[in-house]
Amino acid sequence: MTTSEQLFTQAQRHIPGGVNSPVRAFKGLSRAPLFIERAQYAYLFDVEGKRYIDYVGSWGPMITGHADPDVLDAVRRRLDDGLSFGTPTAIETDMADLICDIIPSIDMVRMVNSGTEATMSAVRLARGYTGRDRIVKFEGNYHGHVDSLLVKAGSGALTHGEPSSPGVPASLAEHTITLDYNDIEGVKRYFDVEGDRVAAIIVEPVAGNMNCIPPVPGFLEALREVCDQHGSVLIFDEVMTGFRVALGGAQAHYQVTPDLTCLGKIVGGGMPVGAFGGKRKIMEYISPLGPVYQAGTLAGNPLAMAAGIALLKKVRAPGFHDALTQRVDTLCDGLEARAKAQGINMITQRAGGMFGLFFTDAEQVQNFTEATGCNTEAFRQFFLGMLEEGVYLAPSNYEAGFMSSAHSEDDLQATLDAAERVFATLTL
Ligand code: PMP
Repeated sequence: MTTSEQLFTQAQRHIPGGVNSPVRAFKGLSRAPLFIERAQYAYLFDVEGKRYIDYVGSWGPMITGHADPDVLDAVRRRLDDGLSFGTPTAIETDMADLICDIIPSIDMVRMVNSGTEATMSAVRLARGYTGRDRIVKFEGNYHGHVDSLLVKAGSGALTHGEPSSPGVPASLAEHTITLDYNDIEGVKRYFDVEGDRVAAIIVEPVAGNMNCIPPVPGFLEALREVCDQHGSVLIFDEVMTGFRVALGGAQAHYQVTPDLTCLGKIVGGGMPVGAFGGKRKIMEYISPLGPVYQAGTLAGNPLAMAAGIALLKKVRAPGFHDALTQRVDTLCDGLEARAKAQGINMITQRAGGMFGLFFTDAEQVQNFTEATGCNTEAFRQFFLGMLEEGVYLAPSNYEAGFMSSAHSEDDLQATLDAAERVFATLTL
């Protein structure tokens, strides 16, 4: 039998770090990543034949579980017609109509191939539409590996941003300002001084890339207000939250309407898909209607559209998100109770079908500084213990967890039983 360890060694010969996306490498976790052979329902099966209850779900798309038969059928039905034509196809209109129907703030939508492309294009569009260069983002929010968005705060809130990766020119990063997530006063202070120069605010309406941090009451509303006051475009990056926090995304859940929305993950049903859309008058700035250029050889790919549409139709079922939220509550309440019983300081935070575990003494975690203050070693031990028990959590304490409708009562109970055993082994 070939092991994950062996495959990881082989992979590192010709793939940087052995992975095609860094978080997969299990860096700092002192073991090789799992090499997965197949997946079904809530389960991953690795190359060694071991089964794992999966709370990553391919980082979000698999909201009805793996290998959903309806999604696979939809793809199979189109397969023999060919993979790509580079022409318009009717199924792209079906997808656009469906998205606009589910998310009322979207009047027009353009399909792309990843979440990164969605945010990159939305930022360019906002800049082109407003004629301004400056972008405001929040510390600990991730919007894909777009140059303008791989930027961290400079020293002091009113200074210019600094690249957070070599290869991003400082002259580009200086147009990106990074503020603290959930800091309403900080946003207002910044806009009072510089608001008229801001093309857009881009925000994860529930932060899912520094663990799971929902917005405090009034935060998203404040973003809407300053954008209205200063003619800036409000972009919700709902690549993770879209169709997950609620059917209509975080904007439906929190009742705050952005100008542009970025989508990914679920919208492609597990295929490489992203989308950005929003107000008609802004979207009409996109080529060929308008001057802002954006394009894609494989954008709107018919197989990808078939998978995405099939999945969106399923998550549209009445009560789908209530049931998903209930599962998250069962898991998170159960984990908190078991941690408490063993004197372990661990809290959970949740929004619809996503959740996060924090090893901390704090009662809540609201921003990047607080998230990075959590006990990384406790997380590492818990993660490795759960893996041993056959439960696959996100391999980083800065990632959210994802529930699916395929997680059964038994799966949740088995996860809680495993957690109880692993909590007992933690040496904090
Ligand atoms: N935005 C958010 C909020 C994300 O979570 C991610 C990816 N996890 C992206 C954008 C980038 O999407 P992709 O990896 O498909 O480029």
